[in-house]
Amino acid sequence: MNLADFKTIEQILLKNGFSFKKSLGQNFLTDETVCPRMAESVCDSDTGVIEIGPGIGVLTAELGKRAKRVVAIELDERLRTVLPVTLKDFNNIEVIFGDEMKLDLSEIIKQKFNDCKRVCICANLPYYITSPLIMHLLESKLPVESITVMVQKEAAQRLCAKVGTRESGAVTVAVSYYAQAEILFHVGRNSFYPAPNVDSAVIKLTVRNTPPVSVNNEKKFFSLIKACFAQRRKTLVNTVSNTLGIDKEALKAALKAVGLSETVRSEQLTMEQLAKLSNELYKSSKQYI
Ligand code: SAM
Repeated sequence: MNLADFKTIEQILLKNGFSFKKSLGQNFLTDETVCPRMAESVCDSDTGVIEIGPGIGVLTAELGKRAKRVVAIELDERLRTVLPVTLKDFNNIEVIFGDEMKLDLSEIIKQKFNDCKRVCICANLPYYITSPLIMHLLESKLPVESITVMVQKEAAQRLCAKVGTRESGAVTVAVSYYAQAEILFHVGRNSFYPAPNVDSAVIKLTVRNTPPVSVNNEKKFFSLIKACFAQRRKTLVNTVSNTLGIDKEALKAALKAVGLSETVRSEQLTMEQLAKLSNELYKSSKQYI
């Protein structure tokens, strides 16, 4: 069964009375080259893969052909009748119905992949939850080697930007704290049915064993990063004091202490400089709570 073929998709969906839900980000891939390419870059016969949002199973089947085992997590209960048909040829694929954001993935990894050499995550993500979902996966510190996902092109550029450049934002810093990010390839909007209004890209986040910088307090570091990029047109001093309520003079002193100008903008700072600033501000646990 060719699950990337438009006619096949239409027949399956018609037979099961299925209609697309925009609210669940349901744009299904119809380009036969994309899923094999994605699967190829994710797994081999020793890999366990968690797929998020299998839809009718087009990427799932390609992962199933190459991986040791695949666990696919799908939110849409209406696909309960569809997936057993489209994935009937595979005995190494299991579908779990539920919300990825609410399931305990570390427990799933423990239970399902104990005989796999590595575990990876792969998904053609619903655009509406791209950044929260990626951050949720990274912050959970799951024992996974990589996260390979299709996202909107602009999100891909932001997520894979170099920290300290104009393209970077809070999410760039957060992602590069946990992983090395790269764009693997681009996918045009016409590769989907229904076609979305945007182009896409497949990105790979290779999870780091240790963060590239050392911070005194991760929670405070991330809230500082969020504040740094909350008002992009303003200087770091203004946006951080507006957002976190930290006194401007204290901020200027902290910038000076780490060798930075008081007129600096957040997007100009490297990861090391951001970490130094955070460590300077939060030297004592009582400061700026
Ligand atoms: N993988 C398929 C493909 O490439 O054609 C479908 C991708 S479609 C862009 C996104 C899929 O994610 C849909 O099947 C949708 O129902 C599912 N989804 C949306 N939110 C989800 C969530 N929170 N947890 C699990 N699946 C979700």
